[in-house]
Amino acid sequence: MRFANLQGRAVLVVTDADGVDRAVDIERASDGRLSSHPSVYVDLANHPLLEDVAAGVSAGAWPVLDPALLGAPVPNPPKGLGVGLNYRTHAIESGRELPTEPHLFGKTNNCVAGPFDDVIAPAGRDEIDYEAEVVIAFGRTCKGATEADAWSYIAGVTAGQDISDRGEQFRLPIKQFTIAKSYDTFGPTGPFLVTPDELADKDALELTGVVSGEVMQQANTSDLIFSIPALVVWLTQFMTFGPGDLVWTGTPGGVGEARIPQRFLLDGDVIETTVSGVGTMRNRVVVR
Ligand code: ZN
Repeated sequence: MRFANLQGRAVLVVTDADGVDRAVDIERASDGRLSSHPSVYVDLANHPLLEDVAAGVSAGAWPVLDPALLGAPVPNPPKGLGVGLNYRTHAIESGRELPTEPHLFGKTNNCVAGPFDDVIAPAGRDEIDYEAEVVIAFGRTCKGATEADAWSYIAGVTAGQDISDRGEQFRLPIKQFTIAKSYDTFGPTGPFLVTPDELADKDALELTGVVSGEVMQQANTSDLIFSIPALVVWLTQFMTFGPGDLVWTGTPGGVGEARIPQRFLLDGDVIETTVSGVGTMRNRVVVR
């Protein structure tokens, strides 16, 4: 199943006979058994009923989905974390040793933005960088997951950006990763939350990051140093996760800071982030 947040309402996205995406309003299609809030589809307890709704839907009866009206599929995550250096290419370009365990930082919920929202780069800060990522959303309470059951806790996968102010991230004496990656709008996600069963191979997702027409990043999650199940195992040994918690799973090589010459985001740049089976986000950079 594919889910989306359409102007604050939870929708199931279905494709009609002509290949056009339609927005099925979950509250109406379930006759009120499920609420209209997007949190409804990130809770795996509701998925059996959502499967029933999906099976009974006549796609053509629902309005054509207007992507411009989409918000973040998980608009207010209880918590958000990001993984640093999780692709060899990015560890190497950063001049760092390959990590032997995941490096985590926080992405606070104020940073979450929609798939077509503007990214606001604060004026006077000239080292704002892009990071294309795959983002996972937990769907049920999880503590002490195993590699074998890790995916069973995940409600869905989406595309994300881990926008970073490198100037702040590496400013001495204390490197403020969490602050530098959690400014308002620094965590766009979307366009859809896609259940793992819907993906051709959930452990081999193609990830592409394009800035103003130039392909900057390209990778496959099969190249992750710590796979999605490995991250779930590692994280849940320390912390309980639950429905709506998000993890940005890391970015591959090609970030602006590591390029020669460096390529930071400029006013008017358009960042396109694509995950296979999920779709493409398009975020404009606005300096203000
Ligand atoms: Zn990142």
